[in-house]
Amino acid sequence: MITINDKSKCCGCSACVNICPTVAITMFPDEQGFLYPVADTVKCIGCGKCEAVCPVLNPTPEREHEQLAYLLQHKDPAILRESTSGGAFTAIAQAVIRRGGVVFGAGYGGGFRVVHRYVEDTAELRAFRNSKYVQSDKAGSFGEVRGFLEAGRHVLFSGTPCEVEGLLDFLGDLGGSGLLLTADVVCRAVPSPLVLRTYLKMIDAGNITGLRFRDKRKYGYLYSQFVVECGGSCRVSEGIETNTYLRAFYSGVCLRPSCYTCKFRKRYRRSDFTLWDCWDASKFTGNHAKFTQSSGITRMLIHSEKGRELLPEILAQCTHEEISPDVAVKYDAREMFEPVKKDGERCARFWRAFGDDPEGALREFFPKTLKTRLEAALRRAAFRTGIYSFVRGMYKRFFGERKR
Ligand SMILES: Cc1cc2nc3c(=O)[nH]c(=O)nc-3n(C[C@H](O)[C@H](O)[C@H](O)COP(=O)(O)OP(=O)(O)OC[C@H]3O[C@@H](n4cnc5c(N)ncnc54)[C@H](O)[C@@H]3O)c2cc1C
Ligand code: SF4
Ligand code: SF4
Ligand code: SF4
Repeated sequence: MITINDKSKCCGCSACVNICPTVAITMFPDEQGFLYPVADTVKCIGCGKCEAVCPVLNPTPEREHEQLAYLLQHKDPAILRESTSGGAFTAIAQAVIRRGGVVFGAGYGGGFRVVHRYVEDTAELRAFRNSKYVQSDKAGSFGEVRGFLEAGRHVLFSGTPCEVEGLLDFLGDLGGSGLLLTADVVCRAVPSPLVLRTYLKMIDAGNITGLRFRDKRKYGYLYSQFVVECGGSCRVSEGIETNTYLRAFYSGVCLRPSCYTCKFRKRYRRSDFTLWDCWDASKFTGNHAKFTQSSGITRMLIHSEKGRELLPEILAQCTHEEISPDVAVKYDAREMFEPVKKDGERCARFWRAFGDDPEGALREFFPKTLKTRLEAALRRAAFRTGIYSFVRGMYKRFFGERKR
């Protein structure tokens, strides 16, 4: 029977919940707002399936295989604008739906909680576009995937690498049936849903009608904004240096414990597609002029024959360029290989303060200061004068990734 003694050993994928034959396991939030499985000892029959399916307890060794790599930018301007980077996810999903398939992804449920669910119509794919930087609730979605596969439907499941590996372990042989495609992202980490809820309460965001973690509408891809819309009008539109929630995410204080020792960071994955950002196409190809960098470009690795079969349909939707897989993972790919470093003392201080006064902790740890306001003003000025990408590139070259 699954028992979580060390929280860093549970990524919250929910494979154990979905496999339990007696429905003995339920996911409950802990005091930090992360979901963990709790088994009912009365219902448990001791079959051991929950422990056997767990992708953290039973890591799959990385196996080198043939890969293809592409830079992609969706040709539909509306799709591209709504997507986090180049909209490659939508191009894959459109191809699966054209085959009569079903697409699972992270969208919003009631109260803007992030949940995994499915859609069957291309018009509904917009719900999954744009990265939600918070852990999603998978609920019964793995069981639903199994149901569709058993009914002979094509399925695309998109999510973080641990979710994809948890799903594949849960499905066993059914996952290799040819009907399932999986797309994972290069994943920095997931913050706590409770921290997001606290932030939204702190800014008094009642009647939320829109929430976008990487909104490109105002300043484009390279300086995307965290946007909250209430009653149809904009309540917050802030960049990475000013927004309290993004600063909390990138500071690393409020991440799921398993993310600091993530077992799913690797180049050779079990998914069919891996998607991530491309901040500077000129690093990867001499043919970069065909892309509009400021609109967003996705880097994509293809890991499987199933993925290669879908490729012509994906490429038909996108401006694209094939690149070397070795080059694709050479630059700006730290999160593919290295977990976020944990500052144990600062994390402990943050969670102590958060336990006492959640909103107060966010204000104390991520205050709006003259420095953050000045930096935001400088970024906006650089953007308006057209030198933003140059300044951003120089900053990264000399200082690397900034600490927040
Ligand atoms: C939590 C998270 C962390 C990430 N960290 C990095 C990183 O460090 N470096 C990097 O280069 N790229 C990272 N990405 C990937 C990047 O943000 C884009 O998702 C990627 O470039 C694909 O963009 P797109 O335009 O093709 O897809 P989009 O149209 O933006 O589609 C978004 C896709 O992400 C999935 N998704 C969205 N939110 C979640 C969530 N909370 N949990 C699971 N799946 C979700 C959707 O189901 C969909 O498949 C991260 C994504 C997420 C969700
Ligand atoms: S041991 Fe079997 S019955 Fe008990 S919780 Fe795990 S999967 Fe369920
Ligand atoms: S990692 Fe997934 S399968 Fe393992 S205990 Fe956590 S929720 Fe269950
Ligand atoms: S960092 Fe690793 S453990 Fe955390 S959500 Fe991403 S894949 Fe899962």
